[in-house]
Amino acid sequence: MNKDFEILKKLIYEINDIEHAAAVLNWDQEAFMPEKGISDRVNQISTLSKIAHEKFTTDKMGDLIEKIKEKIKKVNPESDEARLIKVLDRNYKKSVKVPSELVTEMSKAASLGQQNWAIAKRNSDFSAFVPYLKKLIELRKQYAKIFTPYDHIYDPLLDDFEPGLKTADVKEIFKKLKPSQAELLNKIAEKQKIDNSFLFGVYNKKKQRSFGADVITKLGYDWSRGRQDTTEHPFTTNFGIDDVRITTKIDKNYLPTGLFGSIHEAGHAIYEQGIAKELARTPLAEGASLAIHESQSRLWENLVGRSLAFWKYFYPKLQNIFPENLDGVSLEKFYKGINKVAPTMIRVEADEATYNMHIMVRFELETALVEETVNVKDLPEIWNLKMKEYFGITPVNDAQGVLQDIHWSMGAIGYFTTYALGNLISAQLWECINRDIRDLNSQIEKGNFDTLLHWLRNKIYMHGSKYEPQELVEKVTGTTINPAPYIRYLKAKYSDIYSL
Ligand SMILES: [Zn+2]
Repeated sequence: MNKDFEILKKLIYEINDIEHAAAVLNWDQEAFMPEKGISDRVNQISTLSKIAHEKFTTDKMGDLIEKIKEKIKKVNPESDEARLIKVLDRNYKKSVKVPSELVTEMSKAASLGQQNWAIAKRNSDFSAFVPYLKKLIELRKQYAKIFTPYDHIYDPLLDDFEPGLKTADVKEIFKKLKPSQAELLNKIAEKQKIDNSFLFGVYNKKKQRSFGADVITKLGYDWSRGRQDTTEHPFTTNFGIDDVRITTKIDKNYLPTGLFGSIHEAGHAIYEQGIAKELARTPLAEGASLAIHESQSRLWENLVGRSLAFWKYFYPKLQNIFPENLDGVSLEKFYKGINKVAPTMIRVEADEATYNMHIMVRFELETALVEETVNVKDLPEIWNLKMKEYFGITPVNDAQGVLQDIHWSMGAIGYFTTYALGNLISAQLWECINRDIRDLNSQIEKGNFDTLLHWLRNKIYMHGSKYEPQELVEKVTGTTINPAPYIRYLKAKYSDIYSL
């Protein structure tokens, strides 16, 4: 087995290098590239992706995986080697099933989709986007049908983001979540509104950036293995375990954008910086799934970064930097301000109590689109009805409604779901963490995040994508993804803030 395994590893490393080179180009495109570089850059990235795909889908690769799979049965199934083969086998089978014409067609439709979505959004004109979205949905259905038999046509789409998770699981989770969140929101709506006007003053960008950097340094972001730049849409990318970069967007007139955005991306990055070195240059050296990834960004952003304990430590420092904005604002007022609950039309502006509802709207529509129970052209109308049902508000136009997010224009159907699942997993982990680290709160009040980071590294980060998401959540918390802890977390937090 050893010889075959060495050959396989060499191939895998090369593919990994090519993919990371493409990631560098992509990062540069977002952070630094001059506008007119785009057409060359698109070619460069697509050439590299094509080479990586071709190298992975050869018969030789398939034979090697089969051969090693037989021999590895004697090895501990939890070992890195056994898990690597399991993941490679799964990815290989998926990749070779999809005809290359369909891959090309999907990527063309995605690039046309994004272009025309941007124009349609600018003009708030959904009808201009209809033909492109129709095509994208059609192609996604074609793609899904390659993977028959399935219980639901949405299953293979979801599986690309959450290996092993089924549509029925998500429906079950949301069915439990929806009434509790709605009840909580109704109670909050009856209470007096929180004043957060102090968050909107003029906040010097340089100072914001340096405070954000201090915060994420304290949390554990390793600058010797990363850096932070500015982009329109913040993201995290890695070119290997020792080079995990983040970007941020800072709003001069609204403090939370840069601050919580930086903590969020640092959460993703701290996860990837914590992956075991032994997994480097393999497909195991990444997050277990998008939902697990999101559970980490949200855990640091919300469970830690929007907690009272956290601000007991950081607020005096923030006040020192921005005395003109915060001098008369008490810690309690600040804490309530950053946790204000208010229904919004825009998902990315949503607070912790309403966020998941935005996802449920999208999940219901996505499944209906692929089930063909909803027509693309009717989306704005149904979208607005759902917004009314969930939030009691109606978007003023399509740009603020059905056209607000980029995901569908790229053909990313199933992606949204992972955001809500990430929230749920973060609270599920949080309960376990608090059982294991009894004085966590007082550690956070003192600005000490070491024990927490150590816990997360041992339980989650080091494993990379050795385990499927449900498997990992069950391994760490004792149950698969479960909405109850998130509901408990929201109720406790907002009962206190709003005196419910
Ligand atoms: Zn994220």
